[in-house]
Amino acid sequence: MQIHNLGFPRIGAKRELKFSLEKYWRGDLSKTDFLTECKDRRQVNWQIQQQAGIELLPVGDFAHYDHVLNTTLLLGLAPERFSTHTSNSKHTHSKNEQRNTLDLEFRIGRGQAPSGCQCAASDMTKWFNTNYHYIVPELSAALLSHDTPVNTDNLLAHFNEAQTITDNRKVVLLGPITYLYLSVSGNEDKLALLPALLTRYQTVLTQLSDAGVQWLQLDEPVLGLELDHQWQQAFTQAYQQLKKGQLKVLLTSYFASIDHHIALIKDLAFDGLHIDTIAEQSDVVSIIERLPNDWIISLGVINGRNVWKTDLVSVYQKLQPLYKTLGARLWLAPSCSLLHSPVDLDQESKLDSEFKSWLAFAKQKCQELSLLKSALVNDNSDEISQYSNPAVARRVSKRINNIKVQQRVSTLTAVDFSRKESFEVRKVAQQAELNLPLLPTTTIGSFPQTGDIRETRAKWRRSEINDEQYTKLIQDEIRDTIKRQEEIGLDVLVHGEAERNDMVEYFGELLEGVAFTQFAWVQSYGSRCVKPPIIFGDISRKKPMTVEWASFAQSLTDKPVKGMLTGPITILCWSFVRDDLSREQVAKQIALAISDEVVDLIASGIQIIQIDEPAIREGMPVKQSQWQTYLDWATASFCLSAAKAPAATQIHSHMCYSEFNDILPAIVALDADVLTVETSRSNMSLLDAFDKQAYPNDLGPGVYDIHTPNVPEVDWMVNLIGKAQKHIPVERLWVNPDCGLKTRGWTETKLALENMVNAAKQLRKEYQA
Ligand code: GLN
Ligand code: ZN
Repeated sequence: MQIHNLGFPRIGAKRELKFSLEKYWRGDLSKTDFLTECKDRRQVNWQIQQQAGIELLPVGDFAHYDHVLNTTLLLGLAPERFSTHTSNSKHTHSKNEQRNTLDLEFRIGRGQAPSGCQCAASDMTKWFNTNYHYIVPELSAALLSHDTPVNTDNLLAHFNEAQTITDNRKVVLLGPITYLYLSVSGNEDKLALLPALLTRYQTVLTQLSDAGVQWLQLDEPVLGLELDHQWQQAFTQAYQQLKKGQLKVLLTSYFASIDHHIALIKDLAFDGLHIDTIAEQSDVVSIIERLPNDWIISLGVINGRNVWKTDLVSVYQKLQPLYKTLGARLWLAPSCSLLHSPVDLDQESKLDSEFKSWLAFAKQKCQELSLLKSALVNDNSDEISQYSNPAVARRVSKRINNIKVQQRVSTLTAVDFSRKESFEVRKVAQQAELNLPLLPTTTIGSFPQTGDIRETRAKWRRSEINDEQYTKLIQDEIRDTIKRQEEIGLDVLVHGEAERNDMVEYFGELLEGVAFTQFAWVQSYGSRCVKPPIIFGDISRKKPMTVEWASFAQSLTDKPVKGMLTGPITILCWSFVRDDLSREQVAKQIALAISDEVVDLIASGIQIIQIDEPAIREGMPVKQSQWQTYLDWATASFCLSAAKAPAATQIHSHMCYSEFNDILPAIVALDADVLTVETSRSNMSLLDAFDKQAYPNDLGPGVYDIHTPNVPEVDWMVNLIGKAQKHIPVERLWVNPDCGLKTRGWTETKLALENMVNAAKQLRKEYQA
C-alpha cells in the first residue's frame, strides 16, 4: 500500500510565493531570482510532504499563477493577443520578450507583466465549487492548428528537480476533457476542437513517457458532473485514442462522487482510479467490484478542503476490510489536492490549545495518512485512537450550542424571508428619498488598501496603538476616501472598507461561533490569498459590526453612503464550516446575524445597504441535479438577511464571476433593489442571459476590470454601457467597476473612476437630449 498526495499548497506556509510574485511584478526581484525562489518553494513543499510520510510525491502541481494556465502553456495554446503587438502597447517587442514565457504567463493571467504588451487578461473563474480561480483557456480551431509546439520543459524540469528528494514521483496533469470543458471557444463548437486538442495531449504524453515518467495522475474532475451523452462520448473517444506509452495512468476525480460514470471509465486503458470519498457518499465497494481487478484503487479519505482533524478510527474501520482484499492495490490520499487547505497548523502559536487540537492543515493531513497507513499495515489502531479519539470527541461535545440561536432559526416563517413591498413600490420610495440621476455611479465598496492602512491595522493588532488611536486613524482614511469620491463626482459613496483585511474574515472575527487563525492562508487567485474563518459553533452577533464606520462616513457628506455587509452565503462559502450541522442551518444562523446588522444600520440613518454575495455561484454542488435545492436555501438566506429593510431603504447586492445562465432565476429571487455584477472581462456577454429571462430590478454591470491596473478609456466604457442597455432599460442601469478596488493603487483608481463618471455623464446627456 502506498500513500500519495494529489497536490500541495504552492503559496507557502508564510505566503512566500505571494511575496516573490509581487516583488517580481514590481521589478524588485530579477527573473532569475524569482525562478530560484520558486524552485526552493517546490523543494520545501516536497520535503514537508516526504517528512510527513507521503511516499509518492506529486510533481506538476506547482504553478506561478495557476495550474490551468500552466496546462495552456504546456499545450502551446497561449491566445495570440498576448504574444503579438497590440495598439495598447507602449513598448515594441523584441524577440526576447516574445520568448519570455514567464511574462507571457503573467500577461494572460493579469493583463500585464514586467515585459511585453498590456492587453485584456483572460477571464478567470472559480474552480468547481471552490474559492480558487483558474484562468479560462480560450480555444479556437485557428489557435489549435497553430505551429506553437507543446512545451513540457518546465514540467520535466520539475520532475528532475524532485529526484533530489525521491525517485517515487508522479506527474500531475489536467486531463483533456476537463481542460476542454472549462475552456471558452467563442461561437465555435467546443467538442469539434477535441481531435486537435488530443493531438497536443498525445505529444505531451509521449514526451513524458520518453522522459521516464512512470505514474501520471490525470485529473478529470468533470467526471463528478452529470455529463451528457456528447461529453461522455468525448471522454471515451479521448481515452481510446490516447496512447500512454510506458506511462501508468491514475485517473483522478474529486469534489463529487463518480459512481454514475463507472461504466464510462471501466473499459478504458487506465491503471488506477482515485475516488473522493468525502465530498459525497460513494459506494466504494461496488465501484471496486465493477473495475478491472488489476487497477490501483486510490481512496481520498482525508478531507482536502476543511481544517478538521480526521476521525481516523472510523476511517480505519472502513478501510480495514478493503485493505485485506486489495493489499498493495490500495493507495490512500487526501480527497482532493491540498491546494484548498492551509499549510501548517504548527505555526499557529496563538490558538487556544483545546481548539488547536481539533484541527489539521495540509502538513497534518499528510501525517494523518501516514498514521492510517501504519495502523493498517501493522494491524494496530492504538496510535490512531490516541490521535483522534479524544480530540474528535471533545470537538463534538464542546462546540458552542447556543440554544437561542437555534430557536430563532427553527421558528422562522415565510414572512421572514421577503421584503414587504414589491420592487416597483420600493423603487418609487427610494427615488423619493435618494433623488439619484439617470445612470447613477457607484463603486463596489473597497478602496485601495494602502501600506499605511495595512500598517494601522497591524499596529492595532499588535497593540502598538490603542482603540482610540486606531479609530481616529481609520476615520482619517474614511474622511480621505469620502473626499476623493466627492471630487471624482460619484453619486453613491462608500466608506472604503479600510478597517477590513478581508470581507469575510472581518465579519468572522466579530461573530460568536467563529474562530480565526494567524496563518491559515489559502490561495484564491495568482498572488491573492484568503484566510477563511473557521465556523465551529452556533453563530450570533456580539455587537454592531459596521455601524460605527458607516455612520461616521455618512456624517461627512450629503451624498448617500452605502453600508457594506458580506452576505450569509459568502460568509459560509469562504469559511471552513463545522461538519456537524447542515450548511443550510449554518447559513440561516449567519443570515440572522446580518439581519440584526441591517436593522442597526438603518436605525443609524443609512439609506443604502449592500449585502455582497459574490460566492453564490461557486457554492453550487458539482452535480446539476442538486443545484435547485441549494439555490432555494441560499437565496432564502440572502432574503432573510435583507427582509427587515423598509421600502425606502435600498438593498444592493454584488456578485463576481457568476455564470448567470445557470442561476438566473435565483438571482432574480434575491430581489435586491440593485445588483452589481462582473461583466467587463467578458464584454457584457454575461448579460445575454437576461435576454432569455428578463431581470426585473436595477442592474450595475461592471464597466471595467479591476483585476488589472490598466486604466479604462471613456469610449470603451460608453460602448459597454451601450451594450448593456440592449439588455436592461437605461432607467434601471447603474455604472460601476466590476468589483472592489482594494487591490488597486490610488493613481489608477482615480483616473479610472474619473473616466467612468465621465462616461456616465456623456451618456446622460445623450439620453436626455
Ligand atoms: N465590497 C467588497 C469590496 O469591494 C466586495 C468584494 C467582492 O465582491 N469580492 O471589496
Ligand atoms: Zn466582486
